[in-house]
Amino acid sequence: MMEENRLELFYEQKNGYDLINTEERIRLEEYCKDYMSFLDCARTEREAVKLAVDEAEKRGFREYLPGNKLSAGDRIYLNNRGKSLILAVIGKKPLNEGCYIAGAHVDSPRLDLKQVTMYESDEMCYFKTHYYGGIKKYQWVTIPLELHGVACLKNGERVDVSIGRNFDEPKFVITDLLPHLAADQMKKTMAEGITGEGLNILIGSVPYADEGKDRVKYAVLSLLNDMYGICEEDFLSAELTAVPAFDVCEIGFDRSLIGGYGHDDRVCAYAELKAILDADNPEKTCICILADKEETGSDGVSGMQSAVFDFFIEDICADTDANPRRCLEHSFCISADVSNAYDPDFPEVSEKRSDSKINYGMAICKFTGARGKSGTSDASAETVSFIRKLFSDNSVVWQMAELGKVDAGGGGTIAKFMANRNIDTIDAGVPVLSMHAPFEVVSKFDCYMTYKGVRSLYCSK
Ligand code: MN
Ligand code: MN
Repeated sequence: MMEENRLELFYEQKNGYDLINTEERIRLEEYCKDYMSFLDCARTEREAVKLAVDEAEKRGFREYLPGNKLSAGDRIYLNNRGKSLILAVIGKKPLNEGCYIAGAHVDSPRLDLKQVTMYESDEMCYFKTHYYGGIKKYQWVTIPLELHGVACLKNGERVDVSIGRNFDEPKFVITDLLPHLAADQMKKTMAEGITGEGLNILIGSVPYADEGKDRVKYAVLSLLNDMYGICEEDFLSAELTAVPAFDVCEIGFDRSLIGGYGHDDRVCAYAELKAILDADNPEKTCICILADKEETGSDGVSGMQSAVFDFFIEDICADTDANPRRCLEHSFCISADVSNAYDPDFPEVSEKRSDSKINYGMAICKFTGARGKSGTSDASAETVSFIRKLFSDNSVVWQMAELGKVDAGGGGTIAKFMANRNIDTIDAGVPVLSMHAPFEVVSKFDCYMTYKGVRSLYCSK
């Protein structure tokens, strides 16, 4: 009798593996295998969008053309300049009753090439970079890098660049000082030991067989010209980025974790994508957003602050005779983004009771922000309660999350930009170890539960 009371009164978390059966474990492994191949191929926001469009078309989605009547069951997508994507499945209920929205971002921290990028120094050739998103610079030296993106040539033609992903392709690297000569460097702080202007990528060393100057640069430019038709001036209008050249792999003797580049936030993007592809004749309209530019503040035409989303809602409302304002105020949004997983090696910045934990399921974050919740949309009690009930009704293993100790730091997501649109919004996603590092770690269990979480939203009444 006393024992029952105890169970009822206390909030006690359980390790996710104590809560699932063998069949669920098999589904979890299958799901993660698919996610791993997605992450292996989606190295940039453009590549993630392209893969998502290909998958969506296979599953009956078609490009949305505003001005045509939409009806229940219609599967549409809006490809925003190849850099962000909105997918929707029209529900049986009118749009005035709102949509179920899940929004994740597909951009990740990386090293963008500068516009004037190429130079030769002491008979070696380099690209200068300007990093994108929040990185610890020292982590990006002495690791293999691959190059992705687009170059727009003088004549306006666009060339897709991808080199280093396939095993027989060359890779690139930023060198670091040998310890033997690093006595002074090692006295610097970790923020200063490697500088932004020091992140220069080595791209060649063989000189062109002539008598001119910059012979190595000349030789590399000739190669690039043969491969892509690129001249040096074309870099001025290019969007090229270096990303870690690590393959996605299982981590641990028990293979329970996944290591790879760009889990933040392609791990949630994939969960949403898979959930919307699986959404068949939903009650309410389901929307999946793969946003760009989250890592730099969600600005710009492809970021979540862009009017593209508002216009999309206005257009689909017009095509179903609904009112966009009614639609937004009755909608619910999961801002699906990663949280920091508690790391036993760094307890000093964590608040163990509140940080999300590996293998404890999808992490719900009521608020983000820093130092006094600054810059957060802070989901209401009613909003948290809605998701809490939804998840327990659908056997989604979940936990609460907060980003470290109260005054230790902070971060943001797309949540506030959704909430600012008058949509009840909550952050929820996968806990990550080594977030924003070139090689991040997540647990398979949490990946799968995040998929189940978004799916339960899309499937609800
Ligand atoms: Mn993120
Ligand atoms: Mn991030």
